[in-house]
Order: sequence, then C-alpha cells, then structure tokens
Amino acid sequence: MKLSILGATGSIGTQALEVVDDLRGIKEIEIVGLTGNRNIKLLETQIRKYRPPFAAVADEDAAKELKVRTRDTDCRILCGEDGLSEIAVQESVDMVLSAIVGFAGLVPTMRAIEQGKDIALANKETLVTAGNLFMQAVKEHGVRLLPVDSEHSAIFQSLHGGKAQELKKVLLTASGGPFFGWKREALSRVTKADALQHPNWSMGAKITIDSATLMNKGLEILEACHLFGVGIEDVEVVVHRESIIHSMVEFVDHSILAQMALPSMKHPIQYAFTYPARLVSKDAEISFSELGRMTFYQPDEETFTCLALAKRAGTEGGLMPTIMNAANEVAVAKFLRDEIGFLEIPEIVERAMQDFENKAQPTLSQIVETDRLVRESMQRLNEKA
Ligand code: NDP
Repeated sequence: MKLSILGATGSIGTQALEVVDDLRGIKEIEIVGLTGNRNIKLLETQIRKYRPPFAAVADEDAAKELKVRTRDTDCRILCGEDGLSEIAVQESVDMVLSAIVGFAGLVPTMRAIEQGKDIALANKETLVTAGNLFMQAVKEHGVRLLPVDSEHSAIFQSLHGGKAQELKKVLLTASGGPFFGWKREALSRVTKADALQHPNWSMGAKITIDSATLMNKGLEILEACHLFGVGIEDVEVVVHRESIIHSMVEFVDHSILAQMALPSMKHPIQYAFTYPARLVSKDAEISFSELGRMTFYQPDEETFTCLALAKRAGTEGGLMPTIMNAANEVAVAKFLRDEIGFLEIPEIVERAMQDFENKAQPTLSQIVETDRLVRESMQRLNEKA
C-alpha cells in the first residue's frame, strides 16, 4: 500500500509511522508524502527514515528551512494549503491518513477524496464542520472511509455484527477526562497543566483540552452521525473511566456488541491500514483478571456544557457546527496560551453560536468563509474583554 500522512509530526501521525514499522514483513506500506506544520526537526527525521518523494509544511518560512535541511535528499518540499493537498492527491497514493488537527485538515482531505483516495480519518473536525459535503464526496467518488478515532473504529467494527436496519443505538464511550465528577466552582480554578493531564490517553494538546471540556465527546457525536448515518438522539454517551470498551452498538433485539482493547491509538490506526484483514499486533493485550472491573456513569452535561453545545449545533445543522467548531478552536488555543480560564471555553463557543447566523446546506466555500469570520470575531471579542 502507498500512503500519505497529513499531520505526520503529530500524536496520530507518529503513532501511524510506528504502525508502519510494526507491520514491516507482514504488510508493506510505502510512504509517498508526509506533512507537518511547525515541527520541522521531526519532519526532517521522518523524511530521512521513510524517504518519501514528497513532504509539505503549511508555513512558508518553515518550508524554506526544511528545504535547506533536506537538500541532500530526493524529497521535494511543498508548502501552504496547496502543498498539503498535493501530498494527498499524488497519483501513486492509495490511502491518505488525515491527521492534521482542526479545520486546517479539511481542504486537503476533500481534495484526496475528489481524487478517489481511500481515507483513514483521524481529523474529526473535518466531519463536524463539513460532514454533509464530506460524506457526499465519499459516496460520489466511491472511496473507502475508515475511522481512526478509537470510538468510531469500535462502532465500525461492532456494526459488522448486524444489519444497518437492525441498529437501535450507538453507545459512545467517554473516559470523562481529568475532571470527571468536578463541579463548576472547582473547574474555575483549573490550569492548563491540570487540563493537559489525561487519565488514559496521551494525545495532542487540542484534543486533550477538548477531552477535559467534553467538547471532544460532542464532536464525536456529530462525527458518528455522519459516519454511520444515525441521528443525534440515536447516540448515547456513556462514561467509562477505564477506556477499555471503545464504544458499543445496540441492536433492536437489545444485544450489545462492543470492541475492546487497551487504550492505544495504534490499534484503530492499524485496523484502518489493514482493513478488512486483522493482522498480528505488537500492542499489549487486555488481562481481565488484572483489570478487575469496569465502571459506567452518565455524563454531566450541566457542568460540562460543551457537550450540550455540540449537540445543539448538530441538531440545528447547516453552518452551526462550523460556527461551534471554529469558536472552540479559537477558545482552546487561547486557553493553551493562558489567555482565558477553563470555563471561558464554553462561553466563547456559546457566544459565537448566538452571534452568527445559521444557513442551511452551506457550500464548501461558505464553510471556509464562515470558519474564517468566526475565528476573527472570537479573537477580537476576547481581546476587548
Ligand atoms: P497533534 O497536535 O499532536 O498533531 C497535529 C498535526 O497537525 C501535526 O502534524 C501538526 O504539525 C499539524 N498541524 C497543526 N496545525 C496545522 C496547520 N494549520 N496546517 C497544517 N498542519 C497542521 O494532534 P493529534 O495527532 O492529537 O490529533 C490529530 C487529529 O486526530 C485531531 O483532529 C484529533 O481530534 C484526532 N484524534 C487524535 C487522537 C489522539 O490520540 N491524538 C485520537 C483520536 C482522534 P506540527 O506538529 O509540525 O506543528
């Protein structure tokens, strides 16, 4: 298989390259293109190890620096959104792993779909912001879309146990994040360092904060709706602190099928690369006797209002998920720069959802433009405050 990785320097990207190494001798995966953003040093190391003919970075200065650093290699360095897209559409590419964080992954992933490339999708924000157009393009171009998000990979795998019309609901599991059981008063004092401590997963900064606010679970509800053609009311969030069950599906006969594994993203990444085959994994396996017990709780939507906001955006549809997602990206970036407190994240999201007008069935250019306008506005709003 020939693979391009959008977001190779991130948490998912680096684990995907480990999977490529793990599969050597079992399934050969050739790397055609790699992309990064700021982490030029790591991208250079990856270029030297995997020898892709192409690499791209979003930033122009970073691209210039990378060109100098890799001038003794055969790798062609591209830059900007066009450069990222070019990596994704190279003729020889069979599959694109979409693992850029946030809205920035949307256009290159759409270009890959338009060129008929199979997609291993980690970047949930693309489905949240442009899910209808995305799924329409997947259908039109006949591409295979494989979920990498562990919950969605679990749902995808569990759905093999029944027919679409036999599905009753999706049970989306959530770890609950580092502040499970906390109330607003305590949350008003949390710091960036507290929020970056996820109990079960080591991930990029943005998704780690989204997990702490439960926005991540909100984004995942919308992701599940698009991927599996279900309504928001058909997705039930279940807090499962141990992150062993990665999600479940319930059929009309009340049988529930679940997918379980120790919490490691290498499992769903490998399954996306080898589907429909299951190949030997180098990951550790579950020992139920060591695990002892598994616990389940209801999410606290009154305290973690991002979950309710995401559901509301999904119910309203049209441009509202784009508005919600853009505001959340701005708010999380501000929190990571210590400019706002933890509880201001949902406030910014709610403010954007109030201020911006919704529009049904937006085009891709309307989505891109709205994302830009919301970012500008939410940035200014907080500067004045
Ligand atoms: P990281 O922050 O670790 O990595 C993000 C990647 O995107 C890096 O390669 C980064 O480059 C690149 N990037 C960042 N901004 C831009 C930009 N503006 N233009 C182009 N490239 C950019 O994120 P994760 O790997 O954690 O997450 C990636 C996606 O996968 C997210 O959508 C997340 O929700 C999803 N996901 C992640 C999981 C995880 O375990 N990490 C689990 C399930 C889903 P650089 O590092 O060089 O700056």
